[in-house]
Amino acid sequence: MSFTYDFGQSHANAAYKGKTTVNTKLFINGEWVEGSGKTIDVINPTNGKKITEIQEGTAADVDKAVDAAEKAYKTSWGERVSPAERGKLLIKLAELIEANADELSALETLDNGKAYSIARGFDIMEAAHVLRYYGGWADKDHGKNINIGPGKMAFTRHEPIGVVGQIIPWNFPMLMFSWKIGPALATGNVVVLKPSEFTPLTALRMCDLIKEAGFPPGVVNIINGYGPTVGAAISEHPRIRKVAFTGSGAVGRQVMKAAASSNLKAVTLELGGKSPNIIFDDCDLDNAVKWAAFGIFLNHGQACCAGSRVFVQEGIYDEFQKKFLEHVKTLKVGDPFEADTFQGPQISQIQYDRIMGHIQSGKDDGADLLLGGERFGHEGYFIQPTVFGSVKKEMKIGHEEIFGPVVVLLKFKTTEEAIEAANDTEYGLASAVFTKDISKALNVASRIEAGTLHVKRYNFLTAEVAFGGHKQSGIGRELGDEALKNYTESKSVIINLDGSAP
Ligand code: NAD
Repeated sequence: MSFTYDFGQSHANAAYKGKTTVNTKLFINGEWVEGSGKTIDVINPTNGKKITEIQEGTAADVDKAVDAAEKAYKTSWGERVSPAERGKLLIKLAELIEANADELSALETLDNGKAYSIARGFDIMEAAHVLRYYGGWADKDHGKNINIGPGKMAFTRHEPIGVVGQIIPWNFPMLMFSWKIGPALATGNVVVLKPSEFTPLTALRMCDLIKEAGFPPGVVNIINGYGPTVGAAISEHPRIRKVAFTGSGAVGRQVMKAAASSNLKAVTLELGGKSPNIIFDDCDLDNAVKWAAFGIFLNHGQACCAGSRVFVQEGIYDEFQKKFLEHVKTLKVGDPFEADTFQGPQISQIQYDRIMGHIQSGKDDGADLLLGGERFGHEGYFIQPTVFGSVKKEMKIGHEEIFGPVVVLLKFKTTEEAIEAANDTEYGLASAVFTKDISKALNVASRIEAGTLHVKRYNFLTAEVAFGGHKQSGIGRELGDEALKNYTESKSVIINLDGSAP
């Protein structure tokens, strides 16, 4: 079962005119295998129509994938292959992504609705960067020698955990795929991964490239399916030793509960946010306006780190608002295959309805709707970029994650007040500050409760720099060398050099 799509024929404006063929089965032990017999429709968010259907996996398929992964771990991966060889394969996979970047970007645009120019310029190339970066780490993550005095010595080994489960969302399908498999494979683990049921296509296409790169069968296994079945089976599987999840806080809690009550597997969670963006009077206003818009509207607001609360100091509030609205009006919403489109559709009818519900609650709570707030176009799940002013924290839109193209502007007087308001949330994923005063920026840096602070920019995600949340935004870190710790067990070896008796 596979599906072929001709971009040139279906999209006159597509930069990529070629075709793609995606196998829609499950990928276990390096082979395409049948699922339960049931299928899941994959919907094009740009027009709400079915693109294709994929085979639905079950808990039994997760079991089969774990068997294959365990076998691979014991025979052809883990400690059975040199770290340098693991690195070489990851780098080869990065090269294959680059070689197929146009096709993968077009596929991501079709499946997710994100603008092709952004998929091509960021998602796909950054996925390659992440895999190359972790390929480089594969033979460099060592334990250490520890001096424990005469007649003895000690050292630590960083060992793989074994079979790891990974559950990813729909907002950055390729990127999340790379964030998950990169550090896991570099450190010698084997993977059972579930893509989002909304955006499975690039992960499935990647299976061909994983094969082509030469990874041994069973090292990466991909099981399509729904959260409560396949996702839950991964979280509670007794032979999966670690689970990494990105998605909503509600599901993150379920994953953690399942992990605790099954085999106490290690858990890393990357959850939501309501990230503050603090704009001081002394900033470069034009730059702050552009970054603030990029901070919230990138990926149609469907980013866990989106700068969805913009705090503006009172001296420039009115001017900021005016320039911000002018700038947001220039962001092109529409067909994601158009070269100059910035914002495409939301991912699904469910998300469309959720976001429109938030917009309605903002109106009902008396916030000023300054821009947008309506459907865009006549088909698909498009929402106009939406800006609310006069927002209070108590309003639902002032404190709940919206995960859509909706931003709230809030006014502040002093630095103290801004930091306090920014931290007054259960989330703590990202943040930003705009000021020319380095001491002010560093003051915020030391006190903001967030995993990332951007200074004079927003949404900079790169393989080298750790990413993750404080408070209820998550547990553990992805990217950078910090992610390696999530995928290794440290073993201490202590040696009695002279063999003396106790
Ligand atoms: P979700 O948390 O339901 O889904 C994320 C992933 O978890 C998907 O692969 C899904 O199939 C899986 N899943 C669902 N139920 C599961 C379960 N019981 N056990 C294991 N896995 C399960 O997210 P969603 O419904 O796609 O989006 C809902 C909200 O989540 C959004 O509005 C947004 O607030 C948030 N979200 C956050 C991120 C992020 O990057 N942090 C990404 C997507 C969605």
